[in-house]
Amino acid sequence: MAGLYIHTPFCTQKCSYCDFFSAPPIGNQLKTWHLLIQHNLELIATELSPEIDSIFFGGGTPSLLTPDQISKILASCYKLFPISTDAEISLEANPATLNNEILTGFHAAGINRLSIGVQSFDDNNLHLLERKHSVK
Ligand code: SF4
Repeated sequence: MAGLYIHTPFCTQKCSYCDFFSAPPIGNQLKTWHLLIQHNLELIATELSPEIDSIFFGGGTPSLLTPDQISKILASCYKLFPISTDAEISLEANPATLNNEILTGFHAAGINRLSIGVQSFDDNNLHLLERKHSVK
């Protein structure tokens, strides 16, 4: 069994405490990112084709991608690799990027687990961390 890790290195702003590589998208980068991922998956699949039991969208902020983009990336995964029927398909999400419509779209696209970057349940701490969401 193996897992696929799919990276989205974009964030709307750089948090002061963050050591991960990420930057605001430039030009059309966010709109075309899924095409680059799909191309990379095709390249990987020419060399490796293990059974996949987990797919993880990490970042950066992969929840900046649209449900349609996630759906297209997952369609490539299912086309190119044998995916377990009970595979865990996770998406890292920044609360500031989520609403009911987007969450419904991610679920419909095939996401079955969210990793939500809450960071704190104290608004003072969220302000200190320059996060855009509140405890509410
Ligand atoms: S949103 Fe997350 S990944 Fe992006 S800069 Fe902030 S802590 Fe880092």
